[in-house]
Amino acid sequence: MKQFFQFFSVILWVAAALAFVAEWNSPGTGMGRIGYSIIAVILVNGVFTFWQDYRAERALAALQKLLPPRVRATRDGTVVELPAEQLVVGDIVLLEQGDNIPADCRLIEAFAVRVSNATVTGESAAQARDTHPSMKEDLLRSGNILLAGTSVLSGQSKAVVFATGPLTEFGKIAQLAQAGGEVVSPLRKELTRVSRLIAVLAVMIGLIFLAIGIAAGLPFWQDFIFSIGIIVAMVPEGLLTTLTVALALAATRMAKRNVLIRHLASVETLGSATVICTDKTGTLTENRMRVRELFLGGEKVATTALEYDPQLVQSNLDFFVGAGLCHDLKETENSRNKGLLGDPMEVALVEMARKALPAILASRRLDEIPFDSDRMRLSVVHAMPTGPVLFCKGAPESVLPLCGSIIDRGRIRPLAPEVMHTIVRAQETMAQKGLRVLAFASRRLPAAYTHDGLEQSLVFDGLVGLEDPPRTEVPEAVRKCRQAGVKIIMVTGDHPQTATAIAREIGLVESDDPVIVTGDHLRRLSPSQLQLVLDAPEIIFARVGADQKLRIVETLKNKRHVVAVTGDGVNDAPALKAAHIGIAMGIAGTDVAKAAADMVLLDDNFASIVHAVEEGRAVFENIRKFLAYVLVHNVAELVPYLAFALFPIPLPLTPLQALAVDMGTDSLTALGLGVERPNPRIMQLPPRPRTTRLMNLGLALRS
Ligand code: ADP
Ligand code: MG
Repeated sequence: MKQFFQFFSVILWVAAALAFVAEWNSPGTGMGRIGYSIIAVILVNGVFTFWQDYRAERALAALQKLLPPRVRATRDGTVVELPAEQLVVGDIVLLEQGDNIPADCRLIEAFAVRVSNATVTGESAAQARDTHPSMKEDLLRSGNILLAGTSVLSGQSKAVVFATGPLTEFGKIAQLAQAGGEVVSPLRKELTRVSRLIAVLAVMIGLIFLAIGIAAGLPFWQDFIFSIGIIVAMVPEGLLTTLTVALALAATRMAKRNVLIRHLASVETLGSATVICTDKTGTLTENRMRVRELFLGGEKVATTALEYDPQLVQSNLDFFVGAGLCHDLKETENSRNKGLLGDPMEVALVEMARKALPAILASRRLDEIPFDSDRMRLSVVHAMPTGPVLFCKGAPESVLPLCGSIIDRGRIRPLAPEVMHTIVRAQETMAQKGLRVLAFASRRLPAAYTHDGLEQSLVFDGLVGLEDPPRTEVPEAVRKCRQAGVKIIMVTGDHPQTATAIAREIGLVESDDPVIVTGDHLRRLSPSQLQLVLDAPEIIFARVGADQKLRIVETLKNKRHVVAVTGDGVNDAPALKAAHIGIAMGIAGTDVAKAAADMVLLDDNFASIVHAVEEGRAVFENIRKFLAYVLVHNVAELVPYLAFALFPIPLPLTPLQALAVDMGTDSLTALGLGVERPNPRIMQLPPRPRTTRLMNLGLALRS
């Protein structure tokens, strides 16, 4: 019904009504037949538009299914990953930093859990949750409840499900208020504007011709038919639908290239992107980590030596036990994939530890201080036979300042400045080869320790250099971006030298002196200094935290860039929201990041972003082609009427014929133009300026 009574259809209904009035007024002039034909046009057009809309919507619905919410739960005593909809009351779920909570559940184990209940209560402040009994009757306030629809901001937890689906608090609220609609994209607004303009023009030209005809002494009804013909010929019926279909088909094509669009509007925004701020680990690189080098007890060790040298393992026992225990992985043993779930880097470390220490102890975890990209380290406390021990691993800059001593051939000695020096040098040599370097440290704790002040006076255990090769498609994608005038800025939490080495490998840095800004440096830059820095052709931001990512995005926006930014963690969410296009990682990304993003990279691959930019550009081009076609078509249809008005000839194109031409050539042909594949040349042009209008003087004149 909506299609039959939209703006253009209404104009046609009016025309049909007038034709019937004319028929009634002077029967036998054939006006009635025109009236019926116009109605037929409205019906056919309406059905056609409906069919296209339906197709677009179905394509979008299919896209949403590509990213089903998944959750880790225990079934048959082992951790499995299952679709959230399969959860039942009584299931025990494992939730951690960044996870969306799939059902109402009660905590049974919690380390430093904080949640955001904003989606349910509207309060955005983080709230602590633990396993203590709570006297609050209200589930929203209860200190040991995790509510469906909210998310975990930090910490690790196990919880037992007590309500699912519509029975959850969120379900009850959701039933009261169904979620709002899609935002209107700039292109859509512009297209509405253009098509209104054309429609108004059509009616005006029709009226002018009517007046000219009357002045020239034409018989009124003949003159009238002719004006209706003009209006019908000029109204661009399929314009808005073509946009929706073009966007939906582009989104479907993107999905085949592993880019999931969450907001249709972002397809077109992507096409005008001028800067992409991208992560390194997992996006530019494969995130298939392998331990390449170790630095233990003050000297470098080849990893292959481990298997042959039990002596080495014995004298660095804390290092290997730490590598085996200090992680966030979940053990899974279901039939399909047996092994460890989680960060590939931690998997590599645990596997190394298990190889070196086949009889590694399974011990109970007592406490944990979680990793985040601002702290850049992770600490766990385990109950060992000798008492509780803290194991810490993280970026050397973050861990070394906490260390007071070093273990050397089984003996603990103070960490002298020159030893510190060798460690830093060892780190730098590894980083220059593109390895990611982690430091390990440990500390024996008294039996009655407290959670506060755990991470101090650590004993330095060693360094690990992990290799993470760049993805093979990335150098080509980087080259394509260069050609397309899209700037790539690497924003990574990793060490500057590791970042530069990788940037060189993929062709992101070609000159000898790229600008490398570290997080500490960035903090001291004034806003105008940062603006200047961002003008440099090759920039790498290294060791930056998530809040600084937001600052980089905001500054780029102030410089009138169209910014795309990638992210995976909870604290990337503000930057993802602030950017024109927020891109979340499908594999490494947390639910919170995905919810904040406009698109999700199902394969975490940088090359997919570049494909998406290409599609986005193609959409704008196609809509433009379509518009040019409609204009040309209108002028051509107008000429017979002009000739008829100016010269003493019979009407060369009757209104019925004009309608027939419209039906046959407008909708289908235009649809063809609207969904054309990207032109290979499209990535050799600079991004279109944001001020470029869909219809400008040039296009109108050319038409
Ligand atoms: P990236 O942009 O490379 O993904 P992150 O912000 O994830 O950077 O990590 C920053 C730094 O924190 C890394 O270079 C590494 O030193 C350290 N780090 C990363 N993951 C872990 C972890 N699971 N445990 C301890 N430290 C980590
Ligand atoms: Mg990371």
